[in-house]
Amino acid sequence: MNFLSLIESKRDGRTLTEPQIREIITAYTRGEIPDYQMASFLMAVYFRGLDTGETRALTLAMRDSGDVLKFPADVRPLVDKHSTGGVGDKVSLPLAPLLACLGFRVPMISGRGLGITGGTLDKLDSIPGFKTLLPADRIVEIVQTVGCVICGQTERMVPADKGLYALRDVSGTIPTIPLIVASILSKKLAEGLDSLVLDVKFGAAAFMPTLEKARELAQAMVTLGNDCGVNTRALLTNMDTPLGRAAGNWLEVKEAVACLESRAGVAPAPSSAKLTYSAVSGSVRTRADPSPGETPDLLCDLCEIVLACAAHLLVQTGKASSFETARAQAEGCLNSGAPRKKLDEMLAAQDTDLEEFNHKLTLDHTTPAVMEIRSPRDGFVSHCDARIIGEVIRDLGGGRLTKESAINYDVGADSLAKPGEKTSVGSLLARVHAANENQAKAAAALLEPGFRVVTECPSEPRLIYQVIT
Ligand code: URA
Repeated sequence: MNFLSLIESKRDGRTLTEPQIREIITAYTRGEIPDYQMASFLMAVYFRGLDTGETRALTLAMRDSGDVLKFPADVRPLVDKHSTGGVGDKVSLPLAPLLACLGFRVPMISGRGLGITGGTLDKLDSIPGFKTLLPADRIVEIVQTVGCVICGQTERMVPADKGLYALRDVSGTIPTIPLIVASILSKKLAEGLDSLVLDVKFGAAAFMPTLEKARELAQAMVTLGNDCGVNTRALLTNMDTPLGRAAGNWLEVKEAVACLESRAGVAPAPSSAKLTYSAVSGSVRTRADPSPGETPDLLCDLCEIVLACAAHLLVQTGKASSFETARAQAEGCLNSGAPRKKLDEMLAAQDTDLEEFNHKLTLDHTTPAVMEIRSPRDGFVSHCDARIIGEVIRDLGGGRLTKESAINYDVGADSLAKPGEKTSVGSLLARVHAANENQAKAAAALLEPGFRVVTECPSEPRLIYQVIT
């Protein structure tokens, strides 16, 4: 292969053939293409793009660069969810056990955070003893016995993406739709899935800044996923505000467990009820709810995305005939308490010390310093800025500035007041968890402008903007 001539072809806007793309990926995976040439090729793709045929060829070549998980034939469908990432996005943690309890098999291969968006594997690393790296046969075994696993890619899965993603990260070629599509879908296709739901986020703390760009990315992934035999849907969700009330690795695990525990024993809303994100409580509830603020957060925005993902997968796999019945089924399952037990089963299968984990859950905080941010006036929260919160947490050590950065799993922010929530002077807007008091103080000063309190109740924020099927 003359790779230089292929770089020049792409630079000049020509379309590459399927065999040419496969050859490039095979050679790169074998270490036969130097990074400087591949970076140049990626930049040519960044400017010239790939058409749908080229994107498909790239995705399949990347999938085939390593092992594909092989599961025994089973009536339980294999499903997964993938999020493009945001601040406070801990949906995978309650969703995987919920899906297992709904009769799915869930081989959730997750990633680490980079920049301000968190990664599921980093959250899981905050759990005592938990193993994120498993060999392929153990992944298959846990999925067959427990029903769900959340782990990292094995060394042998999609090695092409590992190299390409790291190179894109340092060559300014991450934000281009064909490369994102190929990177995400090659990994999902290597799981051997039947159905996939994508949570494509847009807004201040998302990869995609606007709804339009998120829609373009979602449409491309849904089309290609379906074309490759995986029933794929995408939700377009807002990421201007963190999901839930906590951000930071351990604090998010704690909130995910609280999401599973707080739902146990709650009666599901009637499937005909109209759901809305409440301006006053910052939670999603039925319009019929009498007095928001008097009841606890029974249906938080986190639960809402968890239930929406589960409901779509029930419909996609033919386990439910409509979204409404599927959602009621998912909510009933969440409220049964079974997914909380399933989470423990999964954690135990992945070597968690459950006694230590459950003890850690009882602690109010696990950092030496906690600082509160309080409202300067009476009014309503109009902004809780996910980007500022994400940046502050990253700089506290909760995220990475480079791939090699060490993580402090316990730092973060919790008790976040959400847009629409009523506040009075002195009421809590957030707590910062930091390694020492000076860092806590500095972080609180940076976080404060991320909250805005206004006198007029702002309009209700939307969470899920569109579903692409
Ligand atoms: N996540 C991925 O896995 N790949 C991308 O290119 C972007 C987000």
